[in-house]
Amino acid sequence: PAKTPKELMAFVEREKVEIVDFRFMDFPGLWQHFSIPARELSEKTFEEGLGFDGSSIRGWQAINESDMLVIPVLESAFLDPFTQHKTLVLICNIHDPVTHEAYTKDPRNIARKAEAYLKSSGIGTTAYFGPEAEFFVFDDIRFDQTVNAGYYYIDSMEGRWNSGREENPNLGYKPRYKEGYFPVPPTDSLQDLRSEMTLILESIGVPIEAQHHEVATGGQCEIDMRFDSLVTMADKLLKYKYAIKNTARKYNKTVTFMPKPLFGDNGSGMHVHVSIWKDDKNLFAGNGYAGLSETALYAIGGILKHAPAILAFTNPTTNSYKRLVPGFEAPVNLAYSSRNRSAAIRIPMYSDSPKAKRIEFRCPDPSCNPYLAFSAILMAAIDGIQNKIDPGQPLDKNIYDLPPEEAAQVPQTPGSLREALKALEEDHDFLLKGDVFTEDVIETWISYKMQNEVLAVETRPHPWEFALYYDI
Ligand code: GLN
Ligand code: MG
Ligand code: MG
Ligand code: MG
Repeated sequence: PAKTPKELMAFVEREKVEIVDFRFMDFPGLWQHFSIPARELSEKTFEEGLGFDGSSIRGWQAINESDMLVIPVLESAFLDPFTQHKTLVLICNIHDPVTHEAYTKDPRNIARKAEAYLKSSGIGTTAYFGPEAEFFVFDDIRFDQTVNAGYYYIDSMEGRWNSGREENPNLGYKPRYKEGYFPVPPTDSLQDLRSEMTLILESIGVPIEAQHHEVATGGQCEIDMRFDSLVTMADKLLKYKYAIKNTARKYNKTVTFMPKPLFGDNGSGMHVHVSIWKDDKNLFAGNGYAGLSETALYAIGGILKHAPAILAFTNPTTNSYKRLVPGFEAPVNLAYSSRNRSAAIRIPMYSDSPKAKRIEFRCPDPSCNPYLAFSAILMAAIDGIQNKIDPGQPLDKNIYDLPPEEAAQVPQTPGSLREALKALEEDHDFLLKGDVFTEDVIETWISYKMQNEVLAVETRPHPWEFALYYDI
């Protein structure tokens, strides 16, 4: 890793890099890029940046003020393992070309401001994030049939409806319903693919702790990265998605991070492990419930209180809410527990070490923009700590065994993206502190999501409506 632009230029020369690729995050959460021949890169690029037209980037500038600058982050440089021509990738911040100020709607800028706000609040110095992003590997052919042919979609849903729970006989080493976690090959047919993904990730600076098949029948996987600080972890999550999708592509397979691709089977979550540190002290370790400190309990209080609003960022697609239903290990209860996996926040008990103490927020899913999602979680935790928000009693009983009156007391996750956006509209002061999220960002997010996703889905006839109503 280069420490100065000069060192990086020397690296480009030595490694005979041919192309330099600039990447940044758009508003909804997809990495965007453009490239230049390596000879066009200079030390000045890291100060002055490079211009591009921001008007076609979803959720960004109006056409009349569309010029923007990318300013590459030196430490983010890595060699792209998937290009034929040797390509150096640089992750970038977005700036205004006139004022040179960081752009308020650049998600990476929002994440940098969230980290700065934690420091300036005096609470801590670093927040660590460990996301466990799950995903499905599908064959190209199945993807095409499922998405392109409406009638096939109906058939496949009906098939799952009728026989998804039991498939007899089970030939061909197919994982049985909810038994993907985790028999050895040949039942697990994706071992080598995940290993290749793991090794590629390690080679581009993303350390991996474990990889395994997940519970769902059709090729659901998980690869776990070692935790890191907020902005760096969000950068890594983008590298993670890029490496995983492109490795699958090499073998004519596709990967989806959508939260609920298959009706009637487990969805893909992205549990997020969080701890806040002051220098080398983990502020979440203590003598309270499940080895937590008072600070950690207040952070939980903040996250649970603001959860409906936070979910507009951590679960930001209409599909997200098809995952948050009972029966598939996804949380539906806005409560915390050291045991109960139906609770939105779990306290892992794998280790006694204070260094390992953390909370696991289980709502998020991998369709989120990680810069915005991690920032929203951190801001809610900070709000909880500042206002000493009591998280109430832990929910250690299995919620399904509770008497209905008691179960009804436990608040639930929002039922739809529409509901989450409504919650965000009503509850976002905690996000505006330190100018981390601005009113403009909140407004743009809500209107973008309403117009392009909520209404777009709500106004289209759904395949299942044909199953229900065609003969009415
Ligand atoms: N797939 C589950 C979810 O949606 C999680 C399964 C697990 O990791 N225990 O959150
Ligand atoms: Mg896991
Ligand atoms: Mg998992
Ligand atoms: Mg987990």
